Amino acid sequence: MFKNFKSVSKCAYGRGSFSKLGEIIAPHRGTGAGYMLFLVDDYFKGKPLMAQLPLEANDAVELVYCGGEEPKTSQIDEIRDRYLATKGLPAGVIGIGGGSAMDLAKALSLMFTNEGSSVQYQGLNLIKKAGIYHAGVPTISGTGAEVSMTAVLTGPTKKLGLKCDWTVFDQIILDPELTATVSRNDWFYTGMDCYIHCIESMTGKLKNTFSEAYGYKALDLCREVYLGGKSGQTIENDEKLMVASYFGGLSLTYSEVGVCHALSYGLSYVFGTRHGIANCIVFNQLADYYPQGVAEFKEMVRYHEIFIPENISKEWKPEEIEKMIDISWALTHMWNHAIGENWQERISRDTLKALFLKM
Ligand code: ZN
Repeated sequence: MFKNFKSVSKCAYGRGSFSKLGEIIAPHRGTGAGYMLFLVDDYFKGKPLMAQLPLEANDAVELVYCGGEEPKTSQIDEIRDRYLATKGLPAGVIGIGGGSAMDLAKALSLMFTNEGSSVQYQGLNLIKKAGIYHAGVPTISGTGAEVSMTAVLTGPTKKLGLKCDWTVFDQIILDPELTATVSRNDWFYTGMDCYIHCIESMTGKLKNTFSEAYGYKALDLCREVYLGGKSGQTIENDEKLMVASYFGGLSLTYSEVGVCHALSYGLSYVFGTRHGIANCIVFNQLADYYPQGVAEFKEMVRYHEIFIPENISKEWKPEEIEKMIDISWALTHMWNHAIGENWQERISRDTLKALFLKM
């Protein structure tokens, strides 16, 4: 396998590093219409973080609702069109929030300079022009969105990323203090996204020393956080999980995700289920594919007494299950990695159906 991937250009890490955001973005204010667009998870509405934004006179703050469904192509197009019509081209986009806020910021950066709907760019290297300056500030750890070259969006017919070199952030700020107020369930579900990234990237045809080196370290950090004491959400653990998320993202960048992500994309597409919990629902049933990983996952679930939904498939309509299979089946790059290039000889749509019905 040959890959030649783009890394995040600049990375600031450490407690309190968010306070440097103003001076970090200052040199990038001169382009376009000269204003910065802060895309902030609306979870922070009325919270102290809003007062810490380094706003200048012409800047804009767009609160985005990230508590419900996954980011949509229509949402990106609407925000882009509204700002271009009212304020012109921003100098940059600063995404502050979880994986959805990160993905929205990455996608917006690209769509400010590429004409038409974001739907036509869902896929690999379909973007025609470089986007505008974009920075990411994660406030929950695990998704790896801060480091990935994909902005995952749900469109009218598929859940697929805008994936190219230009998607990658120009700047990220990893401040573990920002993750302190994450709810216990989200802390667990999103942290497990990181754990699952590592298990999947290190189990499959594309695994290699590069992905394993980052993956092993990220898994060690996950074990320290999720099996190293009942207290869980301490600042020391927040620091570890933030680095684990970044390393987990690098592990899968030089490999690929697998069965869990392929199935969870189907679940999220049909029901809008958030990525972290969707992965937990799916991974809980994948002992045949990842026996050790699933056993350790279940141990972490028990250790922290986290609720993972089960027996939910009995509520699903046949056409919903078919749609989930369609979405999952189309993710050939994940199946190639997880099962092998002859995956269509080894698993069938019925295999996927049986897995969905276990959930
Ligand atoms: Zn993931």
